[in-house]
Amino acid sequence: MNSNRRKFLKSTALFSAALFCSHHTCARAKDAPRACSLRGGLQANGIEMFKTSGNSDLDRSINLELTHVADSFNILPGFGFYDDSDGKNAFAINVDVIPNTKGTVVFGIGLLSDQLFRNEWGGLAVAGIMAHEFGHIFQYQSTFYDLLTQSETTDRLLELHADYLAGYYLGLKRLRSGEIDIKGFLDSLYLMGDTHFNSPSHHGTPIERAKVMLEGYKIGLTNNNNIQQVAETGMNLVFTL
Ligand SMILES: [Zn+2]
Repeated sequence: MNSNRRKFLKSTALFSAALFCSHHTCARAKDAPRACSLRGGLQANGIEMFKTSGNSDLDRSINLELTHVADSFNILPGFGFYDDSDGKNAFAINVDVIPNTKGTVVFGIGLLSDQLFRNEWGGLAVAGIMAHEFGHIFQYQSTFYDLLTQSETTDRLLELHADYLAGYYLGLKRLRSGEIDIKGFLDSLYLMGDTHFNSPSHHGTPIERAKVMLEGYKIGLTNNNNIQQVAETGMNLVFTL
């Protein structure tokens, strides 16, 4: 398949969604997640997934961003929105919902709106969160999920590694688009860090999350396009924390 055709299919696949979702108490889940309640799959949990944010201009911008993230991580997950009015969130699941995609990322409309209007760099925070969730899809589809979860009782390493990958993506984005301010995502991450060290869904402390994201950002700025190598460097970093 030539690259133009592949790109076209990729960008359309991301929004060809009409699906279902679930209870959402954390930002990522595999088949039988330890930290959230997605058992039984999306449909069984009765949450509907939408293919639009409700704003067609915003959809186009997001679709373009997602195409870049998918290219950077060499993955092709499905993507859609859901009503997160009972708890703002976004998450990644290792379940194929949209034909010709692998894995699915679901983004809450409330989280999207909160981030976009929180400050002038809200769009960058949205891109960072999307890259974090796509980072989980990359982990599911590589050896990194097992490497980061074996002998761990919380999701901390998995989450910090996804933050690293998100930072990496934003570094690439900085090279591509010239001007971004990393502060928008840094603030978001800092505010989303937690100190619930023994909770299965512990994401890392605010300081840890900001630190690994900035380290990933630096690697992105070197324009390293070897995602396996980048992910390995990130894994070695989070193991030291
Ligand atoms: Zn996560």
